[in-house]
Amino acid sequence: MDELKKVLVNASTSRLSLAKVLEDICRRLFDCYGPQHWWPADEPFEVMVGAILTQSTAWTNVEKAIRNLKEARVLSPSSLRSLEPEELAGLIKPSGYYNVKAKKLKALVEWLEKYNDDLGGAFTLGTERLRGDLLKVYGIGEETADSILLYAAEKPVFVIDAYTWRIIDRIGITPAERSYAGYQRLFMDNFPHNTGRFNEYHALFVQHGKTTCRKHPVCQPCCLQEVCQFGFSSNIRETRYPHAKTL
Ligand code: SF4
Repeated sequence: MDELKKVLVNASTSRLSLAKVLEDICRRLFDCYGPQHWWPADEPFEVMVGAILTQSTAWTNVEKAIRNLKEARVLSPSSLRSLEPEELAGLIKPSGYYNVKAKKLKALVEWLEKYNDDLGGAFTLGTERLRGDLLKVYGIGEETADSILLYAAEKPVFVIDAYTWRIIDRIGITPAERSYAGYQRLFMDNFPHNTGRFNEYHALFVQHGKTTCRKHPVCQPCCLQEVCQFGFSSNIRETRYPHAKTL
């Protein structure tokens, strides 16, 4: 058993070792995929809109919906507020669940009205307060709130999604509490809180989950295979955890 495998075995009982494991995983992903340049948007409000539109759909569909909003010149809080819900739903149709998402975007821009549409002003709130405020908005759950905090407000918050959940489970460092908060703490407790690093690491997990550690993983050329319990097990089997079926 090489050094890293020993670290993996002991990881669940040692915070120092777990920090080393996570650092090593992220370094390997970065060496494999390079910088991801997230979030693909021109400005923070576009990030917020994209964070809602990307729920339960592929990013390519979100791009089409955002292009429609831009071409209609309505990609601003005040313009979205003035649109009829049906009109907004029609513009974002490519992103799927468009009636519900139109309602969510309306809720978002109503929330922004409290801050006179001044995103900079809203983002001066402390991270916890802003997160709590966002979570009260219709259609904003933990992953969406944290995506807005990290990629629009540039707060050092680690975003957890189903890809991260799956990769962490397969590597074999599942946290004791198998919840969004449990997986998030795994990163927040073991990394220095750094917006740039959290930006890159989340994007790398997404890239790895989409291209390699898929529902049916491609372990043979995987850059994490040496440090992954699932990958070095000869008995490859399907893992089970919430919301994997959607990927
Ligand atoms: S070795 Fe396989 S299971 Fe492990 S991270 Fe890579 S693709 Fe996923």
